[in-house]
Amino acid sequence: MPDTPVVAFTAVSKTYPGRVTAVSGVDLAIQYGELACVVGPSGSGKSTMLHLMGTLDRPSAGRIAIDGHEIAELSDREVSALRAQRIGFVFQQFHLAVGVPVLDTVADGLLYAGVPLRERRRRAARALTRVGLDHRLDHLPHQLSGGERQRAAVARAVIGEPALLLADEPTGNLDSASGAAVLELLRELHAAGTTVVVITHDREMAEAFDRKVEMRDGRIVADSGLSPVPRTGVRR
Ligand code: ADP
Repeated sequence: MPDTPVVAFTAVSKTYPGRVTAVSGVDLAIQYGELACVVGPSGSGKSTMLHLMGTLDRPSAGRIAIDGHEIAELSDREVSALRAQRIGFVFQQFHLAVGVPVLDTVADGLLYAGVPLRERRRRAARALTRVGLDHRLDHLPHQLSGGERQRAAVARAVIGEPALLLADEPTGNLDSASGAAVLELLRELHAAGTTVVVITHDREMAEAFDRKVEMRDGRIVADSGLSPVPRTGVRR
């Protein structure tokens, strides 16, 4: 199924209790291998989109397929398994466990994949090397700079080789140099075949992406269209 998108939204709406319609009738397809961003002002529905793409929430109406799976046809347990195995998350606040060495925090990204501890650690060291933190394996999160913490969070998100990497304001807590380094890292992951979707309110940052999906009041108001996929091949 070469043309199956990794994210397929068909007429998707999400209404929260109190009748706030955060996302309204959205159609969106993101292909494997894209590097895309969803951009819009506060309250435009970006976080809701991320939750829906990440299977953290189900839509109120419409259909969502992720990595070829119709979410409505899956039980909660099956959705959790899909999420654990196929989706990586990076958040603005890093979410690294306090007091746990970076190597183990990243290794925990494989906890639900049934990989033995020794192999988890080996792959964690490799993922940390990939993000330029091979000299920080035994450090605790508070011993790292903000930029290093976010790179560790990216390593944890990609250690299981997800089909889809979702990043929610990944540079929001960083100074501009560290933010640029994290963006560069996401670009490298994309170049190596990972599908990356970044959510941001930062229009300037959005300009750095080949594909921009612009949101306003829960709707897509502009979409620059399919971004080029890397020639080196795409990870599915
Ligand atoms: P953004 O990420 O662009 O700021 P959100 O998706 O967070 O937008 O929010 C879109 C709209 O939905 C806003 O009006 C927000 O107040 C509302 N909203 C978001 N989450 C909830 C929730 N859990 N319950 C009720 N309303 C919500």
